Amino acid sequence: SDQQPPSPQQQRQSTQHRGSGNSTKRVNAAFVILVQNKELHDMRKAMRMLESTFNSKYGYPYIFLNDEPFTEHFKTHIMATTNAPVKFGQIPKEHWSYPAHINQTHAALCRKDMEMRQVPYGASESYRHMCRFESGFVAQHELVKDLEFYWRVEPGVEFSCELDFDPFLFMKTKKLKYGFTIALPEFVDTIPTLWDNVKRYMKLHPEHLHKRNSLEWLSYDDGETYNNCHFWTNFEIVSVPFLQSKAYMDLFRLLDDAGGFFYERWGDAPVRSIAAALTLDRKEIHFFNEIGYRHGIYEHCPESPALQLKCACDPEDNFGKCCLS
Ligand code: GDP
Ligand code: MN
Repeated sequence: SDQQPPSPQQQRQSTQHRGSGNSTKRVNAAFVILVQNKELHDMRKAMRMLESTFNSKYGYPYIFLNDEPFTEHFKTHIMATTNAPVKFGQIPKEHWSYPAHINQTHAALCRKDMEMRQVPYGASESYRHMCRFESGFVAQHELVKDLEFYWRVEPGVEFSCELDFDPFLFMKTKKLKYGFTIALPEFVDTIPTLWDNVKRYMKLHPEHLHKRNSLEWLSYDDGETYNNCHFWTNFEIVSVPFLQSKAYMDLFRLLDDAGGFFYERWGDAPVRSIAAALTLDRKEIHFFNEIGYRHGIYEHCPESPALQLKCACDPEDNFGKCCLS
């Protein structure tokens, strides 16, 4: 009878107890994933890599969010990709629709104009709802709001390094609020008036500006103009209370009232990055060098020989930390 293979449950428990990630140390955290039914296959590929490099040892839950209901087919195939708990949630209509003050006729004209100028996602209405949701509402969702941290994952992303530590526990222990792997400049045509509104926020709410903030990372002229640097938020490990804080929400509401999510095409990445850089202590923002990560054409691949042994990525492909000196 000792030839009997262990049940998946036993296997999972034994792996959980092996590494440093035993359940007593597990953080109140989860992967949070905004995704569409049609992205199932790319989603499972990303999960498979996340499981094999990290989560099979830790068993952190997955939370899937969608503006539409997930199909049974999607749910079945997602659940077959992990032993960890999985939850599926729908986004409330008021977090994925036009606020009353938006002139939708004007918004449609802006989209047409941006389409003609070939601004990335300039023509897309759904992309704008997505960016507004990620900017202001993800941390209010019923399934997310009580977490301490979440790790954002997208379909099709790749994780290339074996992790022998728990990034959530690292964030918690070091009292970090925001973790990233890639930083790069935003397309200027998507944010013509974003910085003017940020300057209005800084004047209106000096109490929200941290005394050890990172303004000098966002601006080379002491706040006069934005240098377009942002963390690439398709990867982020973030404190949920930070996204719920008054400082964060005051910025989001001011920006939402200004209408730029719809009249321009403000992304959640610059919004998140500006909020983090202005309202957090710079020591609360962390670059996760150990996490090899690729989204589309950009990749972070750690260069140190020791880390290379744990990674399957080409350091020549490294995009590095553009914008960070
Ligand atoms: P990009 O990374 O900026 O090129 O944009 P993506 O197409 O990858 O979208 C960013 C994230 O939002 C991905 O996780 C998508 O699955 C998700 N997303 C984008 N548009 C929608 C949408 O209309 N509905 C849902 N449910 N998710 C979306
Ligand atoms: Mn993406």
